[in-house]
Amino acid sequence: VKNKLKEIDAQFVATFDDCERFACLARGKEFQIESCEKLDALLQTIKDAKRIAIQKKDENAANRLLYYEQLTRTLISELRMWISFKENLPEQAWGHLVNAQTDLKGALMAFDVGDILDPYVEKLSVLEELLFPKMLFASVGIKPKKKTCSICNSDYEGCDHIKGRAYMGQLCTCIIEECELEEVSIVEDPANKHCRIMSITEGNFERNAMTWEIIEPKEKG
Ligand SMILES: [Zn+2]
Repeated sequence: VKNKLKEIDAQFVATFDDCERFACLARGKEFQIESCEKLDALLQTIKDAKRIAIQKKDENAANRLLYYEQLTRTLISELRMWISFKENLPEQAWGHLVNAQTDLKGALMAFDVGDILDPYVEKLSVLEELLFPKMLFASVGIKPKKKTCSICNSDYEGCDHIKGRAYMGQLCTCIIEECELEEVSIVEDPANKHCRIMSITEGNFERNAMTWEIIEPKEKG
């Protein structure tokens, strides 16, 4: 595992640096697409190595590989955001940005790397502010009735795993299997930024809340 890990360390750094150069608006779309393909291949290599680390019960290696996996996914999502803007698909671009932020958060949970990711966290938050309008989100208030741990599949309240922490290359999540819906409210700073208000009604017509374009009414019949 040690030698394999060293090899992947080098491969990760080289591929990440190579592709990160294209994560901005001015670079050609073809290089951004090519970078996504390179990163997809890297992701597969990392996953294969992680499987071996898990088999060997090497938790440190597995979590380090999870960290690489999360960072690779982050860069893929950022590149996809730029590609979506070029294809005039701002709503998809938003989805990719939110995925990038989530995956980067996962990288921070996976492995302790001090503050080296702070500039990347900052970059994504600045992009959110500069590239997108202020949006409104729906926040869903729920009362969970049954919670399951993603690591051991047993009742989350009864096990020792803590959500957000990495265990043998996997991030623990608490899966809400059953819940009661308490309320839905409109907020500016939501837990889930995918949950946004898509359109607003203005008089007789509806606008796309992101692009401000008028949504043509669907023909009836
Ligand atoms: Zn558990």
